Amino acid sequence: MLPGFFDSVLQLIIRTSTDLPPDVRAAMKHALVNEPEATRASQALTIIAQNIDLAADGEGAICQDTGMPTFEVHAPVGANQIWMRQQIRAAVQEATRRGKLRPNSVDSITGKNSGDNLGPGTPIIHFDQWERDDIEVKLILKGGGCENTNAQYALPVELPHLGRADRTLDGVKKCILHAVWNAQGKGCSPGAVGVCVGGDRTSGYTQAKEQLFRTLDDVNPDSRLAELEASIMSTVNNLEIGPMGFGGKVTLIGCKVGVLNRLPASFFVSVAYDCWAFRRLGVVLDGSSGAIRNWLYRDPSHPIIPMLDQAGFVRTGREVALKAPLTEKDMRALKVGDVVMVSGRMFTGRDAVHSYLMKNPPPVDLDGSVLYHCGPVVVKEGDNWRVTAAGPTTSIREEPYQGEILKRYGVRAVIGKGGMGAKTLAALKEHGAVYLNAIGGAAQFYARAIKKVDNVSLMEFGTPEAMWHLTVEDFPAIVTMDAHGNSLHKDVEQESGRHLEAIGV
Ligand code: SF4
Repeated sequence: MLPGFFDSVLQLIIRTSTDLPPDVRAAMKHALVNEPEATRASQALTIIAQNIDLAADGEGAICQDTGMPTFEVHAPVGANQIWMRQQIRAAVQEATRRGKLRPNSVDSITGKNSGDNLGPGTPIIHFDQWERDDIEVKLILKGGGCENTNAQYALPVELPHLGRADRTLDGVKKCILHAVWNAQGKGCSPGAVGVCVGGDRTSGYTQAKEQLFRTLDDVNPDSRLAELEASIMSTVNNLEIGPMGFGGKVTLIGCKVGVLNRLPASFFVSVAYDCWAFRRLGVVLDGSSGAIRNWLYRDPSHPIIPMLDQAGFVRTGREVALKAPLTEKDMRALKVGDVVMVSGRMFTGRDAVHSYLMKNPPPVDLDGSVLYHCGPVVVKEGDNWRVTAAGPTTSIREEPYQGEILKRYGVRAVIGKGGMGAKTLAALKEHGAVYLNAIGGAAQFYARAIKKVDNVSLMEFGTPEAMWHLTVEDFPAIVTMDAHGNSLHKDVEQESGRHLEAIGV
């Protein structure tokens, strides 16, 4: 059939997972230049930039959450789409086996991970025919943290800080601004939004995601939408949500808007939020061999220009060294804004672990422990495990459980991203613990701070959800919720809400 097809798709997956396209790199470099030095925002962007370089150098996953693989295929009339679908699925399976994709396909009823990224609905593959002889395959890997911040509005609607959004382009603008404000740092800002005006609920979301296949620097051919995109970009960065929601100048790196006809009774605005780890690439394949003719979004003849010329976390000398197990006294001495370097034992735990701990005692002693909201990519090497990607996951999902777990088991520090809510903040204060924000998506950077995998518990939940026992050294994070009732996330949300009101759409 097409002897090179499988290898070409595998290359596409590996390259997409490990190397950001040049337009996204350029936008992130621009962000780095625009955030004043020695601010939390610039520290976050420096770690992100190092992470981008490390991922490309070592062909490691840029972020441990390699997301929902979504393929858009254009094939010639008469091409065998059934066979192509099988080949794409086999390539996804192989990329997962090689640790380039994290096993991310979970049975929605039992919670069981299929282990190979295959299952009902995963991966997503859309086919379209075209009257050309070659085959185009585009891929986007969009992670769960940013997917959870997607939003859909049925106009007219009342929006906090913005008032009524009518069925007009001003109403659409209000919806986009609200979606970005609502996402705060939970979708690993600075992000990009794909938007669809109209359609129905299903086609609206599909079209919004398809907008993310446009390059960040293109100009919408529809002048009304081009104006809307430019207007969002010129106002949204005044919200001061900033990288990771730490406050700062750069909140969004792109806004792409499409439009579909709608039913007279409906007016949906669908927003697909993608994080800074905006992984999308494409290939054009020879129609008779399946070999790659050319790449989309990147030019392999141009060398990759590193984001930074330095390596390692740049210390200011004000960092606080923490060695686990931690004490209440140490935690009460910390305050919002402190940068800490954590060493010693750390345990991972995300959704399945939190749910388990609510009903069962922990498999290890958690007194004084550091609990890391992380679903790492881990590979087995002989008898040992090695973590190849290990950034934080979105913490707010654990809000219903976290306070209880802190108090019940003596956890002293929770590391994650995007912050947590009022219940956790109260528990941190009562119990004497802190929330540490690591830099979302910096999977390669943090993997290097993990010196050893000591053990693993609850492996029945699958690799990302298991509780990994890690030894870490100088793992940097920022105190964003302290033991005195202070929360940077709450402050930024309120302040950016005031900015939203001041924009006056
Ligand atoms: S960068 Fe953040 S939002 Fe994006 S995939 Fe990674 S963890 Fe999820």
